[in-house]
Amino acid sequence: MYTLECKFWCFSLTIIIKYTKIKLEDDNMLVNSNRLFDTALKEGYAVPAYNVNSLEWARFILEACNEDKSPTILAITPSSVSYFGGYKIVVSVIKMMIEELGIKIPVVLHLDHAKDFMSCKKAIDAGFTSVMIDASEMSFEDNVELTRQVVNYAKKHDVSVEAELGSLSSDGNYSSYVYSDLEQSYDFVSRTGVDSFAPAIGNVHGFYKGDEKIDFELLGAICKMVKIPLVLHGASGLDDNKLKTAIFCGVTKVNINTDLMYAWSCKVRRFLEENKNAYDPRKIILSGEKEIKKVIHAKNMIIGSKNRI
Ligand SMILES: [Zn+2]
Repeated sequence: MYTLECKFWCFSLTIIIKYTKIKLEDDNMLVNSNRLFDTALKEGYAVPAYNVNSLEWARFILEACNEDKSPTILAITPSSVSYFGGYKIVVSVIKMMIEELGIKIPVVLHLDHAKDFMSCKKAIDAGFTSVMIDASEMSFEDNVELTRQVVNYAKKHDVSVEAELGSLSSDGNYSSYVYSDLEQSYDFVSRTGVDSFAPAIGNVHGFYKGDEKIDFELLGAICKMVKIPLVLHGASGLDDNKLKTAIFCGVTKVNINTDLMYAWSCKVRRFLEENKNAYDPRKIILSGEKEIKKVIHAKNMIIGSKNRI
């Protein structure tokens, strides 16, 4: 029953808030998530979080979002941090990129799916402005304890914290899927003091295999119960209306990774097939730039983050 009603409201909200914009108070474009979420929540849109899988991608994302006047979250996993060489390298490069490219939108530098306290601490100490502690594979009590530990440290440094409860599939299957429990979600959020919450409501990482089973009723109920911004992981592959419905039901941050990876790799594969003698890595990597930017422009439009600055 959610679809028609929600679609109508999403459409209405889009019209009403079309010209509402975030006002920047200073020149510091690296911000924590809370201020962006407050505005997005009030105005009914979501802030996009795009995964950075190479440093070139950071530039693609920043340029595309800057062009759209969309606030953005650069999501970097601990394995990507290792790939780039370390937390401080990431922070320095992103800050310099923002400055040299003349980026005029607020940017959140977010650690995605950290599994332990030390990764979060290193990110915070290096200058990340947001971290996700994902202890969802632990027992409920251990998840609460570790998340609280991260929240306590992050609050001292004005860094926002996201956490997860339930078990998302990472291969698109539902065989071992664990939906978040409503009462437990409330308990978890109130005991940990997290700034945003990522529930398992039928969303999966990677591609959906067959029909997705998003439980919008559960999503709406969790939103009413926990009263903090909700995060939708695995938003790639969801159709536009479902994405809008999720935002209407309380999602304030939308994570997009697979769509970017797929668009980029398809284009690079085609480039290499058409240019058998290509060997310059810059030409190879940059051949997927337009495709990534195309996906970002489309997503910013769908989730309503465009023209908010
Ligand atoms: Zn995720």
